[in-house]
This record gives sequence, structure tokens and C-alpha cells, in this order.
Amino acid sequence: MDYVNVLGIEVSRMTNEETVNFIVEELNQGKKQFVVTANPEILYRAYKNKEYLTYIQHANLVTADGIGVVKGAKILGQYIPERVTGVDIFYKLLEQANLNGYSIYLLGASEEVLEKTTHKIKTLYPRIQLAGKHHGFFNEQHDEKIVWEIQKHKPDFIFVALGSPFQEKWIAQHLHQFEHGTFIGVGGSFDVFSG
Ligand code: UDP
Repeated sequence: MDYVNVLGIEVSRMTNEETVNFIVEELNQGKKQFVVTANPEILYRAYKNKEYLTYIQHANLVTADGIGVVKGAKILGQYIPERVTGVDIFYKLLEQANLNGYSIYLLGASEEVLEKTTHKIKTLYPRIQLAGKHHGFFNEQHDEKIVWEIQKHKPDFIFVALGSPFQEKWIAQHLHQFEHGTFIGVGGSFDVFSG
């Protein structure tokens, strides 16, 4: 894959369309994935914080989430064609899930936002199979239940909307417990989508 090194992290040079195609192809080949849409805060945090950097290094795909990353790369003499944000990818993967009848799991946001998100997905994307959901205000005791649900239903996409750094930490720490699925941190996407 073509990438640019930004503050020690390999950031993909794929466009939005290429990114979605890549994720769907990897999924169809049965590959487990961890996608980080890295905004400047994420990249800077990883640069400053070794522990957080190890979480990001679990990802097989890091995209440039924001014009700041695109411009930052340019200053380093590198070219990234466009930003590939968490919200955009969330919407595009929902479309793909609806086209192909993929299953999804939603993790994160408040109960109210999660309910609204679920309702809207069912209305707009009737072919998506909702494998499960859990709000984002939980403690470690709930981890077991969430992990068990994902293991049981093996969703194709697991959208994790816990905000940074929690979402990357959660995915990196639990990834080894799953055999299947595309795990992607989508920040405040459920709030945007449901609002
Ligand atoms: N959130 C959560 N659990 C928490 C803290 C935050 O589920 O313990 C949710 C919050 O409700 C929101 C999302 O995580 O839906 C974070 O959105 P934000 O835009 O702050 O994240 P960013 O995209 O900046 O990382």
C-alpha cells in the first residue's frame, strides 16, 4: 500500500473511493482489519505517547482525517490526495453494507444517540443486518459482554464511537479476541448521523 510517513505513522495515500474499495476487498477476502482515521490530534498524541503509538501500530490502515494532515504531509514534501474522515468512511461503509447485506455492530455514544442511530440505519439501510449494539459509557465489567456479543455474531463492521484515545485503545486491546471483522474508530459519527 502507498503511504506517507507522518510523525512516525504510515498514513495511507488512498482517496475516499480507494479506501472504501480497499476495506471492502479486504473484508471479502476474510481479513480482520483495524482502521484508524487519524486527525492531527491522534497523530500528535501518538507522537508524544508511546503507549498510544502502540495502539495505532495495531492498525492495518491509517487514513488522513482532516485537511491538517493533508497539509502537514505537504509541508514534509509528501502528497496525500484528499482527507479521508471517520464520518465520511462511516457513511460510505453503511452504503456498502446495505448493498452487500453486511452485518454491523455499533459500539459507543449515549444510549439516546445510539437508539436514534439504530433507528435511522434500519430506515435508510434496510438490508444491513444489525448484529448488536452497546452504548459507550461502560466500565470494564461490560467489556466481557460486548466482546462475547461480537464473538458470537461475527459482524462484518464494528463501528467504535468512543472518541480518541479510548476507541483506538479499546480496539487494539481486544482485537486478538476476534477472528473476523473490520474494526474502525469513528469518533462522533453517531452524533452527526443521528442529529
Ligand atoms: N463517548 C463514549 N464514551 C465515552 C466518551 C465519549 O461513547 O466514555 C462518545 C461520545 O458520546 C461521542 C463520541 O464518543 O459520541 C466522541 O465524539 P467526539 O467528537 O468527541 O470524538 P472525536 O471524533 O473528537 O474523537
